[in-house]
Amino acid sequence: MRNVRLPSGETVPSLGQGTWMMAERADRRDHEIAALRAGVELGMTLIDTAEMYGDGAAEVLVGEALGAVRDELFLVSKAYPQNASRHRLQAACEASLQRLGTDRLDLYLLHWRGSVPLHETVEAMNALKSDGKIRQWGVSNLDVDDMQELIDAGGGECAVNQILYNLTRRAPEHDLIPWLVEQGIPVMAYSPVEQGRLLDDPTLRQIAESMGATPAQVALAWTMRSGDVIAIPKAGTVEHVRENRQAADLRLSEEKLAALEQAFARPLGRRPLEML
Ligand code: NAP
Repeated sequence: MRNVRLPSGETVPSLGQGTWMMAERADRRDHEIAALRAGVELGMTLIDTAEMYGDGAAEVLVGEALGAVRDELFLVSKAYPQNASRHRLQAACEASLQRLGTDRLDLYLLHWRGSVPLHETVEAMNALKSDGKIRQWGVSNLDVDDMQELIDAGGGECAVNQILYNLTRRAPEHDLIPWLVEQGIPVMAYSPVEQGRLLDDPTLRQIAESMGATPAQVALAWTMRSGDVIAIPKAGTVEHVRENRQAADLRLSEEKLAALEQAFARPLGRRPLEML
């Protein structure tokens, strides 16, 4: 598994596992637990969750699935913007830790920007770090102007920006991604297969077929192609996890990259960062 280097110097796998929409259906629970465990065994040890997912139920599921291998994981969770204040972040973090059945998060993210001033969130994140509740912190869904404001507010320790990025969401290549590269802050790409919608695209299917790969593998390999992007697909079955894992070993030739470039051209100009 290829690694991505965080600003702290720590490395994490370039392919992790998302958990949004997990723990929402009782009949899928066993499959989801098996999928997460299989992914970790295959090296996808970075797990992304959030207090929002299933109203905490996704964190409980992650704890149940992976509590026994906690020390092998790089565990990421996220706080609602309204909880990212001096007064509320500590309680939100404690609740996430309890649901996950752990004593620390490896990375804690502000899920998106709300009305709490960024300098206050930075202060609250740094306090959690000093207390040993989180090892690192970062943000999600912040565009360039917000990122610049974060840095100016003392947020120089921001470890990642988790954003919507895939073949059909390329606008951040204009400004946000180059800005993050310059700052040495990795992109964590969410919805890397566009929640499954990308997988029926005929051109993607054709390119995948020509490589003896699947559309999901090509889409994921494309997202991770630069070496400094972490992709976090969500897969609810062992079969999908195994398929996705192989994407980390798939290299796209110049020819295939050119074909994808033609089929999924980036928008002509800058656009505000989209989110799901
Ligand atoms: P995604 O990973 O792009 O897509 C998930 C969907 O794709 C699921 O329906 C899954 O089906 C399907 N899938 C996965 N692998 C597949 C494969 N090999 N073949 C066919 N179908 C496959 O979308 P996402 O869940 O929105 O994003 C990933 C993670 O990013 C989330 O789970 C969450 O952790 C994070 N996220 C963060 C934010 C944010 O605001 N920060 C927003 C959205 C997502 P099965 O379940 O049946 O396998």
